[in-house]
Parts: sequence; structure tokens; C-alpha cells
Amino acid sequence: MKDCKELRQEVIDTCLWLKAQGLVFSTWGNISVRLDDGNILITPSKVEYETMTPDDLVVLAPDGTQVSGTRLSTSEREIHRRVMNKRPDVGAIIHMHSPYGMAAAARNEGVPVISEEMCQLLGGAIPLSSEFVPSDMHVKLGEVVSASVDDTNAILIRNHGPMCFGKTLKEARVCCQVTEKSCKMYLHLLAAGGLQTISEENVRRGRDYFLNSYGKS
Ligand SMILES: [Zn+2]
Repeated sequence: MKDCKELRQEVIDTCLWLKAQGLVFSTWGNISVRLDDGNILITPSKVEYETMTPDDLVVLAPDGTQVSGTRLSTSEREIHRRVMNKRPDVGAIIHMHSPYGMAAAARNEGVPVISEEMCQLLGGAIPLSSEFVPSDMHVKLGEVVSASVDDTNAILIRNHGPMCFGKTLKEARVCCQVTEKSCKMYLHLLAAGGLQTISEENVRRGRDYFLNSYGKS
């Protein structure tokens, strides 16, 4: 995506949307977008979304060097950067501190595939990062989370919260909604005492349908 005022405003609007949806509170969420030149546009640290302006956003090189911006980028920049480097298919990343996502991240496993939405929009089960890392250990947190990211469009950062991916911000937003809904459903199903998961074969089939045939037949 091209770095322009409209894109930067779309990032800010997405921050406000996250808050309105109850998926973050205060400044506890962050967003990044891959730019056409390979750099990463990312939200600043500790700036309220209501007062954030396009100039507050920061541009990082893929190696983490700050290319432009006067603010400090989000403290979770290492996760964004490393996931972008690992997943060339990802163009936008949203990290949220949503209630059900955080609750699911406090269990000892990810969320299995329990709905068609997970097959088609996330592309499979939501993994859980392999170990808890305190938030002040920025580099280690980035290493551990990115190592646990697979080819699906979401991950639960252990005892922390979800991170969702998409080719565009719009797609990443949808993945945020599917992730929060899936975590909510899963926790309710566990409390109800049973659930049925979807087989690997049908997960692949659903994702393939969404990517190649949905809306065409
Ligand atoms: Zn966080």
C-alpha cells in the first residue's frame, strides 16, 4: 500500500473502530501496514486514538530501523515486524486486547476449528504462542510470537491477547471479528462440556473455496 494521508487515516479509523467494538481499551492495541516499498507503517506508543493524527504514525524498515516519524513506535513493534518478515502474504496486522481473545489466550492451547468462518476467513485453528514473555522483553516477545505464527490469519499471544492478519486492513478487521467470535464460542462450548471440530481436509476445502470460488458459483 502507498504511504499517504488516506492510508494513515484508515489506520487511525481502525484504532477507533477497535475501541468502539470493545476490542481494546485506552491505547492497548496496535496496527501495522506493509507499504509498497517494503517498509512498515505502524502506530505510535502511548498516543490516545482520539487525538492521534496521521503524522503521529511511524515508518519502520524491515530490520526495525525507524525510517520516519517523530514518535516512538508501539512497544510491540518487534512482533509486527517479525510477522511481516515471516509472512509475505500479510499486508496488515491488528493486535487487540479483546475480552474473549484474552481469556482464550490464558488457556494452555489454541482454538481448534469449530466453524466454517474459521476455515474460510482464518484458514484454520488459531495457534497459541509457545511461552509467556513479559511485555517489556520486546525482542524476545517478537521472536517467540513470530516463531509460533503459522499460515493462518490469527495467533493468540499467550496470557496477552490476539493478533490478526490480512492482505488489507479491511481483511484484518474481519479476522479480528472472527477471532473474537471464535474465542467466545470456544469458551462457551468448553463450559457446556463438548464440541465438535472440523477435519483438516474440510478446513483446507473451506479455505480454498473462499480464496478461489466464493462468489463465483
Ligand atoms: Zn498487547
